[in-house]
Order: sequence, then structure tokens, then C-alpha cells
Amino acid sequence: MKSAKNSGAPESPAACSLRPSSPGKSTLVEPGESSWTDAKPGYVGRFAPSPTGTLHFGSLLSALASFLDARAHHGRWLLRMEDLDPSREPAGAAQQILETLDAFALHWDGDVLYQSDRLTEYHNSLTFLNDQNMTYGCDCSRQRSRSNEGVYDNLCRNRASPPIDDFAIRLRLPDTNIQFEDRIQGIYQQNLPSQCGDVVLRRRDGLIAYQLAVVVDDAWQGVTDVVRGYDLIDSTPRQIALQQILGYQTPRYAHIPVACNAMGQKLSKQHFAKALEPSSSRVYLREALRFLGQDLSGNPQTETPQSLLQRAIERWDIQRVPKLANIPVGHQLG
Ligand SMILES: [Zn+2]
Repeated sequence: MKSAKNSGAPESPAACSLRPSSPGKSTLVEPGESSWTDAKPGYVGRFAPSPTGTLHFGSLLSALASFLDARAHHGRWLLRMEDLDPSREPAGAAQQILETLDAFALHWDGDVLYQSDRLTEYHNSLTFLNDQNMTYGCDCSRQRSRSNEGVYDNLCRNRASPPIDDFAIRLRLPDTNIQFEDRIQGIYQQNLPSQCGDVVLRRRDGLIAYQLAVVVDDAWQGVTDVVRGYDLIDSTPRQIALQQILGYQTPRYAHIPVACNAMGQKLSKQHFAKALEPSSSRVYLREALRFLGQDLSGNPQTETPQSLLQRAIERWDIQRVPKLANIPVGHQLG
């Protein structure tokens, strides 16, 4: 059990290495890091699974769409393992994900980035935000935080006496609308105070929250294009707000429909989504291309995963992806 970090206060005198950088210029690359961060191609995409179980058809869709979009742009496709919650990560799951991607010929560029190796950077960001008076401690119960349809009412923002211990750290989001143009779904807008509420950066149990880690890592890896599931679209405005506060560039976003089962539930481990079978990779890839609205020509009898993907790259058209939040799939897939 990892001990909770003790406080959001800047108790450590360690110099903060994180400063808002001039737009387009990353100041966060440490000397001696792997060479791919030095490259400045026009397109950098990524796939960022959490190793909470084996890959299923839903995760394949995100992997495939982000892969095809990157390769069609002659860009790089990075792999990031979002392994910040050991209690949810069975031993060997990360390795199994890598092997499955390999079996599907979804080959990534450079080294895999493990978020569990990045805790210092996240804590530097927290220290920076705290120094800017952009954070506060919150010990509201989970039930309370979620009672208003999941929108936190910022109760602890202006408390006279901040919580002493056992609290989450929240970011003071600006009282504003954030709007962006999704490459698939079109204009998406959210009012941060009424539709989001101040976002948790460090959880009450001490773990770094997804929203902070994803923003810090997308910037550090130079990601220009995020292609991911529609279930994350409502996280995007708060991520854009955090990018702006930290002085990062905002990537382009494309949110693909989420695959759901006959009950309308997103395919996931909780809903017992079937693990991908590497021996049937061609079948899954063709089904994933069909789901994404792509050209399915080609001979299923003679193609290999490689040849199938090569043709899919050449014919990739993101405008053919259905502008939908979710699409049901048959039980053989889910
Ligand atoms: Zn609170």
C-alpha cells in the first residue's frame, strides 16, 4: 500500500522544475531522456491504456483509430501505460497488453512510457500549481462530490479552515466556458463551474489523478493529436483548462464512438468484456474498421494483420467515423 502524500502544501523546498513554457516549446524534457522526445514531427499520437485487464474490442478501437490516424499523417504513435493505481492492476496485465498489440501488428514508436515512473513530474506540477495558489484541499465525501450529477460545487474552495489531513487536492478551474472543435464530433462546449466543477489533481488516497497525469504526459511527449473514446470527451474541457494554466499547447482531439453491449453498457472489464484473441486478430481488425466506418475492401482470406493495416492506413478517412457517442456491438465482440 502506497502511503498518501502528506499535504498539498509546498512542504518540500525542492525547486520546481515546471514552469509555463513558451507556446510550442517543451521545457520539460530532461537531458538524457530517450531520443524520440527530441524529434519534432508534425504529428504525434498516442494510445494510453490502463493495465487493469486484458485488451477488449473497445480498447482495440481506440488503439486502432489512433494508430491509423497517426500513420496516415506519417506521424509517430506512442504508447503510454497509465498505471497509477496498483490496486486495480493485476500482475502481468501491462505485459499482456504489449503482447496483444504486437500480435495485432499495432507497433508503437520508441519506449513505452509508464506513468508509475513519472510521479516526480506530477508532484512538481502539483507544487507549481500550489505555488500559484491554484489548488486547495478538499475532504468532501465521494457521495457529496457526486451528488449534483457528478459536478462538484467547489464547496471547499473558500473554506476558512482548510482540511489538515486526509484530503484530495483540487484545481481552481476558471469560471468560464471551454470550447473546442472535435475532428469527429464537431464543436463541443462546456461551462466549467456548472458542468464540471473543480477537478481533483491528487486523490484523497494520495494517488495522482488521471486528469493531471494525462495533461502533463501529453505535453511532455509532445502529443499533437489525441484520438480516444467518446466517454472521455467531457474530460477534455478541464484538460484544456489545465493545459492553459500550465502553459502547454492544446492538442487536436477526435473522439470516436464507444462500443457498448446489448445492455447499453460500455465494453469494459467491469461489464465482463471479452478479451481479444490474438489468433483472430484479422477478424477483430476488420470488425473494428467496420465500426469506424472505414473501407473494408480486400481479401479476408489472404490478408495478414500487416497488409490489412497497411491498406487501412492508405484509406483512412476520419470523416467516415460515425458522429455518435456509442454504438452497440454483437455479443461475439463484447
Ligand atoms: Zn470539499
